[in-house]
Amino acid sequence: MSKRDYYEILGVTKNSTEAEIKKAYRQMAIKYHPDKNPDDKAAEEKFKEAAEAYEILSNPEKKQRYDQFGHAGVGSGNGGFGGGGGGMNMDDIFSQFGDIFGGHFGGSFGGGGFGGGSRGGRRVRKGTNLRIKVKLSLEDIVNGVQKKIKVNKLVNAEGVTLKTCGTCNGSGQVMRIANTILGQMQTSSPCPTCGGDGKIIDKKPANADHDGLIRKEELITIDIPAGVEDGMQLSVTGKGNAGPKDGIPGDLIVLVEEIPHDRIKRDGTNLLYDHYLSFVDAALGSSAEIPTVTGKVKITIEPGTQSGKVLRLKGKGIPNIHGYGTGDFLIYINVWTPQKLSKEEKAILEKLKDAENFRPNPTSKDKGFFERMKDYFN
Ligand SMILES: [Zn+2]
Repeated sequence: MSKRDYYEILGVTKNSTEAEIKKAYRQMAIKYHPDKNPDDKAAEEKFKEAAEAYEILSNPEKKQRYDQFGHAGVGSGNGGFGGGGGGMNMDDIFSQFGDIFGGHFGGSFGGGGFGGGSRGGRRVRKGTNLRIKVKLSLEDIVNGVQKKIKVNKLVNAEGVTLKTCGTCNGSGQVMRIANTILGQMQTSSPCPTCGGDGKIIDKKPANADHDGLIRKEELITIDIPAGVEDGMQLSVTGKGNAGPKDGIPGDLIVLVEEIPHDRIKRDGTNLLYDHYLSFVDAALGSSAEIPTVTGKVKITIEPGTQSGKVLRLKGKGIPNIHGYGTGDFLIYINVWTPQKLSKEEKAILEKLKDAENFRPNPTSKDKGFFERMKDYFN
């Protein structure tokens, strides 16, 4: 849909002053105001169109971009720079009225609850969110876990009865006639007696609060998916505090805390493990059992394994929380250098000291530390 020229909408020109533009908009706003033209879609469109034009032309920077690039320059056409006047809603328009008609008018008017069709109507109360923390082991994170947690939450007390609010007759809104510069207009605002709920509490037990709620311990079951991370917040809809007066419950926000593992470290979806072996086992070859999160895995150390070699157990890491595969379990081989030696041991090693095969002799096939790091990060 192609847009009309903003100057044409307000009936002004590029050379009109700020005051002239403001005056023109004021006249349009009065003429097409929805409260003066109830159920008139065409008037509503004109009203919105004028507000959008004024939004741009009253702002020197936006006006300049519009003059230079047209609708594209203010993000109101297709594409453009964004941040323009495209798609103003009624709340935006009314909040703009403050400087057009003066603070008092803007305030009493904007707060009137006009909302393009959703005018008036009872408000449904939503309960507040409940926040809890869960501590998870690496096992819980790898496999996903169901946790049963005791929470102290607000629930509707038993014996609370409601009755329709007499002030607004259950509509939640009160109407009043206001004298404005547009003439007499009917405006609505939330009912002061019931706060917009349309209902008030008739009877409640003495221990309930003013909303008819009491605190109660409840056992909640939460399914935690595999792959969560420390600091992540999971939101469980409708498991929070109860909504007062037949409202809807808030959400349960679960903050994840990861219990660090003794031996296994986490890096995103990968798990990292340091394995130590003697240089004898490294030279002769050996095997070892590695405690991964999902059970023990036997690994074989080839004869002549260098310190720093990384063994990768594919898919033995943590599942991606969005379902994009599973990380790996990486085993870093550390050759343990003895720190204490007996006389005999020393004597044996002394004999080997100058042995040809014991002298370091790296070739291009042996990956050093820095090359292994590159492998890991790429
Ligand atoms: Zn009421």
